[in-house]
Amino acid sequence: MSYSLNKKIKNLVPYEPISGTYNIRLDANECTLNYNEHFKQIAVDAVNSIEFNRYPDPTCINIRKSFADFYGIDYKNVTVGNGSDELLFIIESAFLEKGQSLLVALPDFSMYEFYSSVAEVKCVKFEKDSKLNIDVDKLIETVNKENVGLVMFSNPCNPTGQGISKNDVIKLLNSVNALVVLDEAYMDFWGEENSLLKYVDEYSNLIVLRTASKAMGSAALRLGFAVSNTTITNALTAVKSPYNVNTLSQTIGANVYKNKDFLKKQINTIVENVDLLYNKLVNISKNTSDFVVFPTKTNFVLVKTSFGKDLWNYLKENSVSIRFMGDYIRITAGTKEEINTTVNLIEQFISER
Ligand SMILES: *Cc1c(COP(=O)(O)O)cnc(C)c1O
Repeated sequence: MSYSLNKKIKNLVPYEPISGTYNIRLDANECTLNYNEHFKQIAVDAVNSIEFNRYPDPTCINIRKSFADFYGIDYKNVTVGNGSDELLFIIESAFLEKGQSLLVALPDFSMYEFYSSVAEVKCVKFEKDSKLNIDVDKLIETVNKENVGLVMFSNPCNPTGQGISKNDVIKLLNSVNALVVLDEAYMDFWGEENSLLKYVDEYSNLIVLRTASKAMGSAALRLGFAVSNTTITNALTAVKSPYNVNTLSQTIGANVYKNKDFLKKQINTIVENVDLLYNKLVNISKNTSDFVVFPTKTNFVLVKTSFGKDLWNYLKENSVSIRFMGDYIRITAGTKEEINTTVNLIEQFISER
């Protein structure tokens, strides 16, 4: 007897996080500040209050109410996941029928395509234009031509930093029979007026995803949220594993989202910082060929350059970690000090080149 791994998993490699320690971590679009004392106290109180011998609340009621209240929506439209990553996998595994395809618009968040291979779903790859935007009419045409059952994209997009207007998203929703998953992981930075969060009851084919990992500074908790009409929400709740979100994260998260004013202020600061980073990088690009800076609606800036790998290495040697992605580098907005240090190093690298 012998066992060998099947074809779809045989060559998979585990996700490799950045290894090593760095003084400045600008590689994963996290909030670069840890919890303040008040939020740490929320975590301590959670530890002291929960029943560790009991299973978590499968309905996640407190965190759903708190999340829904933050955004002014109905908690009955919310499903909670162990990070939005878990929700992506559940949706790709459960919401397509045999023969239907997933469509992704590249470049985009790499996990969409990754999960499709495990879920044995064919993945149609739509290419963005040279400015990294989506031509929505062309996208609609492709969806309707290719038996696409699920369209998934981030808005605003990681890694491009670009956003699709609400009107374009609505046009897409109205023009396809496919389910549209709108990953709004970075929408807190662009602004709620661009979000489809409040439209889920109007469209039978819409799921909006949000996360506590970016603007809320809570990546360690692993909290992701799917917002959809109650038909989809019921289905999502039925297919997820009942105890997918642990009690500690539910309890801390429920109390973190109650600090609306603080969180909004934190988001404003991050937006200020990303503007600073963007302006400084644009300044560099004025005197540097082969260094194209993309505008951003997120908490990071994408730069197209052919010397990204050398620059990435140089920064690493100076204890600064950014993301290298082939023709591009992606830099998360840190604190003003972190931005100054990083930009100074980039200028130094370019002048010595
Ligand atoms: C960071 C990120 C997420 C968040 O994933 P979690 O599992 O909630 O931490 C989702 N989508 C995109 C596009 C992201 O960049």
